[in-house]
Amino acid sequence: MSELRYSIATGDWVIFSKARARRPHDFVQSKKDAAALPEHSASCPFCPGNEAKSGASLFQLTDKGAWKVRSVPNTFPALSPDERIDRKTDGFYTSMGGFGHHEVIVESPRHNTSIALMSDGEVEDIIRVYLSRYITLQAVPGIEAVTIFKNHGPMAGCSMAHPHSQIVATPVVPPHLRGRIALAVNYYEINGSCVYCRMIEGELKAGTRILAETEKFIAFLPFASPFPFIVWILPRRHMSNFSDMDEAEIRDLARTLKHILGKLYRGLGDPDFNLTIRSCPAKAKENSFFHWYLIVIPRLSQPGGFEMGTMMPINTSMPEEGAEFLRQVK
Ligand SMILES: [Zn+2]
Ligand SMILES: [Zn+2]
Repeated sequence: MSELRYSIATGDWVIFSKARARRPHDFVQSKKDAAALPEHSASCPFCPGNEAKSGASLFQLTDKGAWKVRSVPNTFPALSPDERIDRKTDGFYTSMGGFGHHEVIVESPRHNTSIALMSDGEVEDIIRVYLSRYITLQAVPGIEAVTIFKNHGPMAGCSMAHPHSQIVATPVVPPHLRGRIALAVNYYEINGSCVYCRMIEGELKAGTRILAETEKFIAFLPFASPFPFIVWILPRRHMSNFSDMDEAEIRDLARTLKHILGKLYRGLGDPDFNLTIRSCPAKAKENSFFHWYLIVIPRLSQPGGFEMGTMMPINTSMPEEGAEFLRQVK
């Protein structure tokens, strides 16, 4: 017996395979604690004392003259502000210069920490730097979308142990986000409401996939999760753009994110994961149809040929079981 589930917000059909089902415990990783690394590494460009190796700060928060979180240019940028932005068309094909911005946000002066292990105040500082860079970059002429993301661990594409996130500002809206927005617009035109606001109501009513309910945010494993233990964190208030958070929401998001990443860290043995923020593009900032959210994708399974060929995921873990498992983690 298998089950297919459809998400009206993502347009995904997901196969939940009972024959391939794995218990939540089967996903627990056995790997070294981040705290087992040295607190400072002489060869790490992100450690204090090595700032010259990572470039001058584009923005930083400081305490008593020492930086706490800093944003620096990516040494190997995917896009550059020096490139041209105009498009070239040659018959059927269109190209443009690799214009954009690519920064690294160094999350802590400590080499051997992780958001799951930080204080609420330290996570709040990271969110504040995310916000500051997001607001600056989305105002840059020619920038259409700003994506904040984090790769944690080698399976997630991370080669540097020092805790860091990245931010990429692109001259086009990423096609995946464009697809999500099109679905949200369509839902709004038919139903006159935001599909994500309706999803929040539905998840609160069902209750079985909820991981956290705070005053300002809600976290859950979505009904049609494409991969095991995916977590969505959404603001309860309808808000299209990440930069529209108020002070109370910034503090609440920091606590909620630390809470969720702490559950993954302790419950699943510090799994590799990607984190990203999906927010409305710069030019369509506040609107009634799109609702920004943060998504955490643990990298616990590898897509096979069917998934790569069809982009239709086969998930071996039911979100209700995953949520039940993570709710028990203290
Ligand atoms: Zn370091
Ligand atoms: Zn909404």
